[in-house]
Amino acid sequence: MPEKRSIPLSVPNLSMDIVKNIKDTIESGWVSTGGKFIKAFQEKMEKYLKVDRTVAVQSGTAGLHLAMRVLGVEHNDEVIVPTATFIAAVNPVTYMGAEPVFMDCADDINIDPDKLESFLANECKIVDGKVINKQTGREIKAIVVVHVFGNPADMERIMEVAAKYDLKVVEDATEALGSYYTSGKYKGQHCGTIGDIGVYSFNANKIITTGGGGLMASNHPDLLEKASFLGVQAKTDPLYYQHDEIGYNYRMTNIQAAYGTEQIDRLENFIATKKKNYQLYKKAIAKIDGLNLLPFNQGTRANHWFYAVIVDEDKYGIDRDQLLIKLNDVNIQARPLWGLIHQQKPYLDNQAYQIEKAHYFVNHLINIPCSSNLTEKEVEIVVAWLKEFKQ
Ligand SMILES: *Cc1c(COP(=O)(O)O)cnc(C)c1O
Repeated sequence: MPEKRSIPLSVPNLSMDIVKNIKDTIESGWVSTGGKFIKAFQEKMEKYLKVDRTVAVQSGTAGLHLAMRVLGVEHNDEVIVPTATFIAAVNPVTYMGAEPVFMDCADDINIDPDKLESFLANECKIVDGKVINKQTGREIKAIVVVHVFGNPADMERIMEVAAKYDLKVVEDATEALGSYYTSGKYKGQHCGTIGDIGVYSFNANKIITTGGGGLMASNHPDLLEKASFLGVQAKTDPLYYQHDEIGYNYRMTNIQAAYGTEQIDRLENFIATKKKNYQLYKKAIAKIDGLNLLPFNQGTRANHWFYAVIVDEDKYGIDRDQLLIKLNDVNIQARPLWGLIHQQKPYLDNQAYQIEKAHYFVNHLINIPCSSNLTEKEVEIVVAWLKEFKQ
């Protein structure tokens, strides 16, 4: 029997160096949405991402909501979204009173550019320069692209299609901080800096964390100026408290940013560890018949945030659900792909276009431990159990 050890799926990698920053927030009294760490964090992120402007926010979800708002998504509009994602990528569409239209994924679990194109060509018509969904009569305004598990989506194709139909593109890069393209049109450019607005998350399970938090990035500074303004209650006159629009309380706090300025300096080390562990898993899992570790896309430097294994029950002997139970029984935390969003109760009436591959991943995919502080020994233990459970 392999060694029994509790191994979590994905946990934060924190250092006591953060304490020095937290001490500073206490001594200065700057604990809320003002203070030096917010500006410092944004500047560090702008430099790292090579992007004109960033705005630090309370969460990835808040950033996605603000993105919808400043890109002009309105009541009764439609936004094309993937169904294979975490629901936070989709709910902001609903917050605006707009409706999501669900797209299938490709082999990389990211939105399928072929289906995206055929949906727009066959199911939509252009009326007065607007893209109208023939089935619902509503105008399509934007596309949300999620770089699932940190694997860069085919932005070259997606941006081409978006340009053809004059649609806005929001990149949900919440899982993809540090992922960039190494070839093609976007060589050297980070996920989240290619569409109109990109959004990152620093929730505790993401590659770096600020406890909870997010960041918007864009090469259109005017859009982010607006987002920044709306994120502090749209205060037009800060002295007399005049407000010409409805805003939100969405800005990041100085305490969160105090974590962020430390975490971002360690990101490249985290990625190096995640890549190394991915290679260890890959070598070992290749020898287990019926299990296949999904690759990250060619022409990219992925951050290797989450590892996805596909279970072929005919060859492996037990199915994905049985494997999930067995792993969790020995305290190796593993989980399936999210439930598809077009099948969630609030979205059952929304249009879903030719969803096929997403169902396959829902039934066959398993995420295995991938923390940036996962040791080589722990990788060996996970692999030993994967071998042990094969029938
Ligand atoms: C984590 C995540 C979000 C939301 O980020 P929060 O900071 O938790 O609000 C959105 N989309 C995807 C795909 C995510 O994984």
